[in-house]
Amino acid sequence: MKRKTLTLMVVLVLSGWFVSAQSVFKNNDLEISKLEDKMWVIETTDNTTMYIIEGNEKAMLIDTGTKCEKLKEVVHKITQKPLVVIITHIHGDHSGNMNQFDEVYFHAADTVLLNSFNPYKGKINFVADGQVIDLGGKKIEVSHMPAHTPGSIVLLDKQAGSCYSGDAFGSGQVWLQLRPYAPMQTYVNSCKKMERLMDEGITKIYCGHYPYVKMAFNKAYITEMRTLAEALVNGTAPEAEPHPQKVSIGCENPMMVTLGGATIVYDPEHLK
Ligand SMILES: [Zn+2]
Ligand SMILES: [Zn+2]
Repeated sequence: MKRKTLTLMVVLVLSGWFVSAQSVFKNNDLEISKLEDKMWVIETTDNTTMYIIEGNEKAMLIDTGTKCEKLKEVVHKITQKPLVVIITHIHGDHSGNMNQFDEVYFHAADTVLLNSFNPYKGKINFVADGQVIDLGGKKIEVSHMPAHTPGSIVLLDKQAGSCYSGDAFGSGQVWLQLRPYAPMQTYVNSCKKMERLMDEGITKIYCGHYPYVKMAFNKAYITEMRTLAEALVNGTAPEAEPHPQKVSIGCENPMMVTLGGATIVYDPEHLK
């Protein structure tokens, strides 16, 4: 190994960014790797992500991905505990297989997306900011972080210092150009809330598209996002460029702007 590469790896390990994943299951749709004690990441071949957290009495499945035939059986290979299925937000790449489950949890503010994206026939349990879900020896707290969608939530495992953010802060790039639009200030407020949680002990953010980053984000990422969002509100942001991808559920001419490792995609018509 070259000295430079070795030095980089040491820096990454020391900064807590490097996560050594251990693959435990693979099929045509996905691969499951153990990231931490009683925590696994599921990465689908089309770059969506789910997480499994196991407590003493129950386990939690965070998001339900896209290409995952027999997801319930697949999760059962990892844990046999009764499953709490919680969706970070109602976009098709996070809630794609929810009809495989009789009961799901998500924030009521995303009901507006349920109708257009993904009809669900089972029992819905709405979660609220501050709500704690006890898995037995492991408590997961819901934190409402709107902007990417009105009902985006982050799930906090305060004991482990980890959280699961869906697309609330993106996976290197946050998409704020999608309908229904939130004012940029809503995103600033969510970033500030996340920064406070990180001052109080959360150190690792596991994002909703893990295959792109293969690591947990730290506070510097959120601070860059907040600084950039504030600059957009104040009209002092670096020069933006057109975003190459036009999304049917978003605006016609999305723009993107970058600061360090953080990129915001937005609709210039809907900053306020
Ligand atoms: Zn997503
Ligand atoms: Zn999303």
